[in-house]
Amino acid sequence: MRKVFVVGGGGYIGSHMVKQLVQAGHQVVVGDNFSTGFRDAISGASIIEVDIGDQGALDDLFSTQEFDAVIHFASFIQVGESVLDPAKYYGNNLAASLALLRAMVKAGILNFVFSSTAAVYGNPVYVPIDEEHPKAPINPYGLSKWMVEQILRDFERAYGLKSAVLRYFNAAGADPEGCLGERHEPETHLIPLILQAASGRRKAITVFGRDYDTPDGTCIRDYVHVTDLVQAHARALDYLWAGNDSAVFNLGNGAGFSVQEVIETARRVTGREFAVSEAPRRSGDPARLVADSRRARETLGWRPIYPDLETIIKHAWQWELRALPK
Ligand code: UDP
Repeated sequence: MRKVFVVGGGGYIGSHMVKQLVQAGHQVVVGDNFSTGFRDAISGASIIEVDIGDQGALDDLFSTQEFDAVIHFASFIQVGESVLDPAKYYGNNLAASLALLRAMVKAGILNFVFSSTAAVYGNPVYVPIDEEHPKAPINPYGLSKWMVEQILRDFERAYGLKSAVLRYFNAAGADPEGCLGERHEPETHLIPLILQAASGRRKAITVFGRDYDTPDGTCIRDYVHVTDLVQAHARALDYLWAGNDSAVFNLGNGAGFSVQEVIETARRVTGREFAVSEAPRRSGDPARLVADSRRARETLGWRPIYPDLETIIKHAWQWELRALPK
């Protein structure tokens, strides 16, 4: 049993992580400022309301409690918003992450798992994308993550901080037992928006662009189940605790689905009809993002349990039905 500090444990992926760590018998402390997360998404862990940009508060915490690792999920994630308000993104995703890392080094906590993103690659020059693909983020969100990745390289060299950087492709789905799911406010992600249209919470789903260079003209993404994502984090922790060096891993299924295919699969899974409207391309959306995750499979022994889109949507639908106002 280990003691893990989960920053952002009240959020979508963080809350699934907490559940899995608690089930595995670890002692979990969640640090969250609840700006976007939810207290009621956390169970079996102690909760500390803290802003990770507040290094004094972290110093106090780390001087009274010892941790075997920190997992950091506390980021803003909206690409469009990051373009309009870069200060918010560099303030939280970059500056606050730096404060967290400084507090960790000061306290001698030297194992770190970091949520990064496929957005560090920018417009792909080849797909599937492996970890060596050139990094050229095209928005402040992706850049803020890439900057933290570079800080981590320097922190390993200078202070011995070991990190596993996990670059997510499209996180989707929900806890198969129906306890947790996606609750972004406002929701901007494709699958929950489609399911809100299917359940009647929303009038229609809007397709952003049908003029991409893809077979049906809509964008292709690699959707990966949130439970599989957190399983990769658990393996990354074991990898670090085994004394391995820092590493970077892509997390995706290696299968791409177009927006149109996601809509059709959702119609099948839900058995509901819903309206689809059209809009121009959303800025900053590459046509195709598909992961080469061989390294995570080979090095971490990561095996997604729910790689198929139907199951991902089925679990998200179960959650959407639960979240409907009664
Ligand atoms: N998308 C869409 N309509 C929406 C939301 C998203 O057509 O209402 C498209 C978006 O352009 C992208 C894909 O769905 O091609 C996945 O977008 P999402 O925001 O879910 O994730 P991202 O790829 O931005 O991480």
